Amino acid sequence: MEKTDIKSLDYEELQQFMASLGEKPFRAKQLYEWMHEKLAADLDEMTNLSKGLRKKLKETTDYTSLEVVERLVSGIDGTEKYLFRLSDGNVIESVLMRYHHGNSVCISSQVGCRMGCRFCASTLGGLTRNLKPSEMLDQIYRIQQVSGERVSNIVVMGTGEPLDNYDNLLKFIRLLTDEHGLNISQRNITVSTCGIVENIRRLANEKLQITLAISLHASNQEKRKELMPIAYKYDIHEVLDATRYYFGQTGRRITFEYSLVGGVNDTEEDARELSALVGDINCHVNLIPVNPIKERSYVQSNHAVIEAFKNKLEKNRINVTIRREMGRDINGACGQLRKSYMDEN
Ligand code: SF4
Repeated sequence: MEKTDIKSLDYEELQQFMASLGEKPFRAKQLYEWMHEKLAADLDEMTNLSKGLRKKLKETTDYTSLEVVERLVSGIDGTEKYLFRLSDGNVIESVLMRYHHGNSVCISSQVGCRMGCRFCASTLGGLTRNLKPSEMLDQIYRIQQVSGERVSNIVVMGTGEPLDNYDNLLKFIRLLTDEHGLNISQRNITVSTCGIVENIRRLANEKLQITLAISLHASNQEKRKELMPIAYKYDIHEVLDATRYYFGQTGRRITFEYSLVGGVNDTEEDARELSALVGDINCHVNLIPVNPIKERSYVQSNHAVIEAFKNKLEKNRINVTIRREMGRDINGACGQLRKSYMDEN
């Protein structure tokens, strides 16, 4: 019989599950508290559950608890990178970033990724599998436990395309924002997508207050195709229309992520085209100096080019920031810690 992944169950589902084991409703409440509020790493920590019940749970359930394989702490800004092992032996990475406004964790949503963005190390081995809601949650739970610090902001921007794992993502968000769990505000959650149009619209219809970030990375369809294979499926204008729809349904300002790649998408003409593309959208553009990876020949735009690009957007009344590089000394780029671990093993 397949074991139940109890950390992925919402409270109602957990009540039903406990009833199926012949347990009283208050046991579901205790168990939920241990998992999502006290962040227990193990069933044996749950000391107010009888030994008999814990034994029953061990026999019937899978208790997701990620194992920390590596934790790197930046000497520059305190950023922490975590490499976690899942119960099936796969590894994933997550990042804790410390800002003035609070601690932010960037999580992975899949093991690997099948989207093939040309500048990204996470996709080099393709997609292995989706992460379960419990595996997304536990990245945050473990980091909060290990660092001993409260996490207030979550970005789903690590390895994986979250909208390619839609149902698990939604369940994860519901559990994360539950008042009986970590109770993170929807407004403090950002989900980043390379632009899966039908799921952006589906997400808009959920009318959540989360921030939608679009990996745009190009100022026109042709250039986007060179950098992101997903552009062959969805035209850039379809993606932008979906973001207009998202804003219409939720009132949430859109974030556009734009990785500046030296000589590829960083010219003045690109800045002009980009301004025209997103000028009518209530948005914010986040410029990201691309992180070079050795498997690709892309290079970072130089400092003056980045500043000029930003100025051009500002002149066109676009809200824009340059993303501060965090944890530069600990193998910064997304997916690289996991990749070097896998190469070695
Ligand atoms: S940038 Fe995101 S969507 Fe694109 S390949 Fe990397 S992980 Fe996947």
